[in-house]
Amino acid sequence: MGQTILLNGIVLSAMPIGDYDKRLVVLTRERGKITVFVRGARRPNSSFVAAANPFVCGELELFEGKSAYNACKISVKNYFRELAEDIGTAYYGFYFLELADYYAVENIESKDMCNLLYTSLRALTKPAFLNRLVRRICELRMLVLFGEYPNLFECVSCGKKEALTHFHAGRRGMLCAGCGALIGGIPVNASALYTLQFIATAPLEKLYSFQVSEDVLVTLERVMGEYMERYIDRKFHALELMEMSWSGP
Ligand SMILES: [Zn+2]
Repeated sequence: MGQTILLNGIVLSAMPIGDYDKRLVVLTRERGKITVFVRGARRPNSSFVAAANPFVCGELELFEGKSAYNACKISVKNYFRELAEDIGTAYYGFYFLELADYYAVENIESKDMCNLLYTSLRALTKPAFLNRLVRRICELRMLVLFGEYPNLFECVSCGKKEALTHFHAGRRGMLCAGCGALIGGIPVNASALYTLQFIATAPLEKLYSFQVSEDVLVTLERVMGEYMERYIDRKFHALELMEMSWSGP
């Protein structure tokens, strides 16, 4: 056996392999998205029974193979067990993991993304904070991290910085009153615009520190919903489950 390395990360997904093993996809601060094999993870007496699961956040001691890693030890910092206690909240959590998996790349330092994911999962565990709002904040910040975010600070048609009144997904940003009247888009009032701008630019520790009116939240949902629909070419399994459970009795 060669030398082991230490990586810090969050488990994005866990798949059973063979009779007793698991394959994890982990977002790590140091090396981005990696694949980790955990031998014996499904044996009842394995030290990995609790650790080799989605949401687990901690330090992984790994043997580095040719195309994947083998787990030697996982020191768990947070299991996020609260997320599993409520199915509605769990769906949001799984959606964030899928979103991170969609954007994450291998062999790239991903500290900011790990921090955003961790902070967003933490926000889901706080009952005072609406999951619907946490979702839209997490989505917009992921887009900001990956440079695919809309222009929220000037009219994408004429460049004006004042009186921005409409959001246009197709044009990737805000429109002023004049251009909005011609081109259309989703009406965005001043407080909704301020909220979008705040989410895009606030320091991470301030990101989940505010509440909004239902009115503003509905605008955020329309803006982010249309934008994500247009620019993300993946169906997220957790969102489909969420919608199925809503349309049920
Ligand atoms: Zn304009």
